[in-house]
Amino acid sequence: MRTNRTTDNVPANPLAAVRNLGILAHVDAGKTTVTERILYATGTTHKRGEVHDGTTVTDFDPQERDRGITIFAAAVSCAWDGCWINLIDTPGHVDFADEVERSLRVLDGAVAVFDAVAGVEPQSESVWRQADRHGVPRIAFVNKMDRAGADLDAAVASIRERLHPAPLVVQLPIGAEDGFVGVVDLVRMRALVWSEESEAAEVRPVPDGLRDEALLRRRLLEEAVAERHAAALEEFCERETLSAATLASALRDLTRTGDGVVVLCGSAYRNRGIEPLLDAVVAYLPSPLDVPAVRGTWDGTEQERAADPAAPFAALAFKVNATATGRLTYLRVCSGTIEKGATVWDATARLTERIGRILRVQADRHAPLERALAGDIVAVVGLKSARAGSTLCDAGAPLVLEPPNVAEPVVSVA
Ligand code: GDP
Repeated sequence: MRTNRTTDNVPANPLAAVRNLGILAHVDAGKTTVTERILYATGTTHKRGEVHDGTTVTDFDPQERDRGITIFAAAVSCAWDGCWINLIDTPGHVDFADEVERSLRVLDGAVAVFDAVAGVEPQSESVWRQADRHGVPRIAFVNKMDRAGADLDAAVASIRERLHPAPLVVQLPIGAEDGFVGVVDLVRMRALVWSEESEAAEVRPVPDGLRDEALLRRRLLEEAVAERHAAALEEFCERETLSAATLASALRDLTRTGDGVVVLCGSAYRNRGIEPLLDAVVAYLPSPLDVPAVRGTWDGTEQERAADPAAPFAALAFKVNATATGRLTYLRVCSGTIEKGATVWDATARLTERIGRILRVQADRHAPLERALAGDIVAVVGLKSARAGSTLCDAGAPLVLEPPNVAEPVVSVA
């Protein structure tokens, strides 16, 4: 698992290979554990952090470790299958709705984590609605499949009833509760099985005992996709089935337009289901090129900025952390390119700032970069005035970036 799928073939930074990803969940659904396992699977960390022993790498703050909840958002970069995945941590606790809101401004896609026993919980519903308002495409990960009482069908029914009318279930679990050992990948019709000895999934044919069930589930998936996707409908009518390629590309389109939600399952704690989740992030969630241009204003004039490295520089600061390295300001570069040592305009505070170092934060390591391009998420050292929500830009092309239209005020559901 931790070999050629990770950092070996990452291109310099073509935008198509970037996924700015958030993980959304009700407290305790397993967001921290999923994040940990993603960092481990991608080779970003070499030891599995455990929430209960306070070694998780995304939770930088001691207060956070003590309280056992993720309070402060941090961005961590990791690589999978030729893509950079920038993981933006979003607090699950309802008291931090503002911080969730800020994180949602810099995400292009999200994984919503659910507990396989509890299904949709109140906070999962409130962050889901926030993500809806920001138009963030999502896939769902039903976690804790190893727990007594875990029930994927019931969790999917709660997603259908409370969140989205079109859950598209792409896996069939193999084994239940303590005996949950793998999944049938319904898109490629193969089994992925995890054993205690080896961490990587073993790819096998669909077990005989699950074949009929898998064929039925695949049929239901094809019908649900064909109902919502013109090209898939055409192929379905012609051939009475869908090829894996058509199914995958239709799932990508439906995810990106918000017309469907791909549902996967696993047990983060047991490290089961993480690789297919990463594959789904790369396959279905959008890159910065696939999302609308960001908008801003200056002197009453509206402006738009596409994720183009050649355009004037504009970035949104979304988090400031005091660390041993110094004051780290996390930025989403929305357009243009920023070089280390550059002078920029803080359009929010209306003053000039100098970018010191540019860092790609990889869990416990900070990799220095010469520059960062539109679409990327990096941390910079040296900014004095920028706060979460500040716009930094080229002094010759000033603007203050706006949040996307938020249709209604944020309501916290307790
Ligand atoms: P968060 O609050 O959403 O970040 O959730 P955590 O990742 O802190 O997990 C909450 C609790 O659930 C912790 O005690 C985890 O060890 C446990 N947990 C996480 N994933 C799983 C899982 O797949 N199976 C089981 N049985 N427990 C899990």
